Amino acid sequence: MIQQGNISVSTENIFPIIKKFLYSDHDIFLRELISNAVDATQKLQTLSRIGDVKGEIGETKIEILLDEKAETITIRDKGLGMTAEEINKYINQVAFSGAKEFVEKYNDKLDQNQIIGHFGLGFYSAFMVASKVEIITKSFKDEPASKWTCDGSTSYTIEENPRTERGTDIILYINEDSKEFLETTRIQDILNKFCKFLPVEIEYDGKVVNNPNPIWKKKPSELKTEDYENFYNELYPYSEPPLFWIHLNVELPFILNGILYFPKVKPDVEPQRNKIQLYCNQVFVTDDVKDVVPEFLMLLHGIIDSPDIPLNVSRSYLQGDARVKQVNQYISRKVADKLDEMFRNERDVYENKWGSINLFVKYGMVSDEKFADKARKFCLLTDIEDKNFTIDEYIEKVKPLQSDKDNKVVLLYTSDATKQHTYIYNVQRKGYSVLNLGGPLDNHFIQHIETKVENITLKRVDADTLNKLIDKGEDNVSILSAEDEKKLKELFESKIANATYKVETKALDADDDFVTITKPEFEQRMKTMSQMGGMSFYGAFPDTYNVQLNTNHELATSILNNTNEEEVSKLLMQSVDLAKLSQGILTGQELTNFIKRSAELLK
Ligand code: ADP
Ligand code: MG
Repeated sequence: MIQQGNISVSTENIFPIIKKFLYSDHDIFLRELISNAVDATQKLQTLSRIGDVKGEIGETKIEILLDEKAETITIRDKGLGMTAEEINKYINQVAFSGAKEFVEKYNDKLDQNQIIGHFGLGFYSAFMVASKVEIITKSFKDEPASKWTCDGSTSYTIEENPRTERGTDIILYINEDSKEFLETTRIQDILNKFCKFLPVEIEYDGKVVNNPNPIWKKKPSELKTEDYENFYNELYPYSEPPLFWIHLNVELPFILNGILYFPKVKPDVEPQRNKIQLYCNQVFVTDDVKDVVPEFLMLLHGIIDSPDIPLNVSRSYLQGDARVKQVNQYISRKVADKLDEMFRNERDVYENKWGSINLFVKYGMVSDEKFADKARKFCLLTDIEDKNFTIDEYIEKVKPLQSDKDNKVVLLYTSDATKQHTYIYNVQRKGYSVLNLGGPLDNHFIQHIETKVENITLKRVDADTLNKLIDKGEDNVSILSAEDEKKLKELFESKIANATYKVETKALDADDDFVTITKPEFEQRMKTMSQMGGMSFYGAFPDTYNVQLNTNHELATSILNNTNEEEVSKLLMQSVDLAKLSQGILTGQELTNFIKRSAELLK
């Protein structure tokens, strides 16, 4: 007996609407149908466990069958099946009204790019790719099998079917526009994307395509290092082993499982984002985990699985969601705890990894206050001898020698130990310590610790205020008279006077360099910022430099005493050019002139 009916919705034809909304994401039909098959299988297993299903349930593999000739895809499960009455209830009424509700609810505010999951649309997503869908199903209950057919209009037929084995076949007759889904590789790709870790075995093309027991569902105590590394390899084949990982495992106040890996960061390779996958009960949802994972941890790799993150809503909603915020904060806290633990228990291991970890820690510190407070204990400063210190340790170490008049501790740093070599050499000669802070985030980091840690100030080794800051007050006595100092200054000004260079004299030690070119710390930072992309406004400013003349240097006296104008001119230019050379700003015609002049002086 064939029964006919109309699917109970008021909208004339809902399918065009479904198609429109899910246009960009057609491949989720397979995820939805396989999820239903998994649900049906797990429900059967539960019923069997509690004794509602008698006898052995046998193997429960789900099969995906592709028939290129008939142009069909079949999703076959051995789950609990449906009686005719249940089809009526769950397919004809409930599910469809669910789809309708979804569309009505989001009709106006829905931007399809904003939807991150479409859970709830479920079964009817089949019509995105199929012109006709059949359900042949036999319930575990002692009732005849049924066949339901629908061609994408709102009418369907339902009839008895001779099928005897328990379970459900969903048969999709693929439509003209969706022929791509009849290709084996396309199906394989979709399975690989959505079904890799579904909890029931899925077979396609004679092979099981998923790992039903991924390690994130297991207890950390059951797992060894090897297990975590193998799993990482399974997720990201051919990549270098991770530095370490964090196994997330909470039930309250929300359920969250997962593993977050810290990848090795190579200095010259742009780290990859979007390597964290979000799952809902082992079903892949998205690899865009913005908001769920703190921004500074977006470079981590791994898996997050939570049934508690709302999936079928828009981005802007997600952002304000209290649950999502809690998850985000939980992850941030977990990461801080893990780093703290590693630092305390295995400091040498931690230090070895610092080259890669520091990017996360510094990013975390500048962007997340709570994290910053915790990280103060395990954030390291590395000096140019490659020794590591916590911020407090370092301050203690350098305090005796590097405090200024106001008792502020001056932390000296270099942004490029090769280019600023002369300056480093000069301060090291006086026993000062220099930090290496030339990483991509260090500019922000420097600003951060300056505001967070009282009583310190950071100066780049070639900054203008360096001398004033470190020698505690007593200036050297100049061996030149005030008149001679003025004369020396004017001599230099006559050679290089312009808006860029400001000449000043200072009584330094006799063995300090004769001419030193420095740059105001503030300008230096602005320049680095604008080079990094932000604050392009400052990039438009011309560079300014201080040219500092050491009045106690032998050359000062010999220039003043020299009456040969041509020789004096050469000496002045040569001294300035040497200073420019160590600042890295001697280029172009000036460089050529310098080389020619040097060769002549050698004669
Ligand atoms: P949801 O899965 O969110 O409930 P769906 O539209 O995907 O919504 O499915 C509607 C209902 O149809 C399911 O809840 C289930 O009762 C029934 N159903 C769908 N597929 C199957 C299946 N393969 N076996 C048994 N029941 C199914
Ligand atoms: Mg479903």
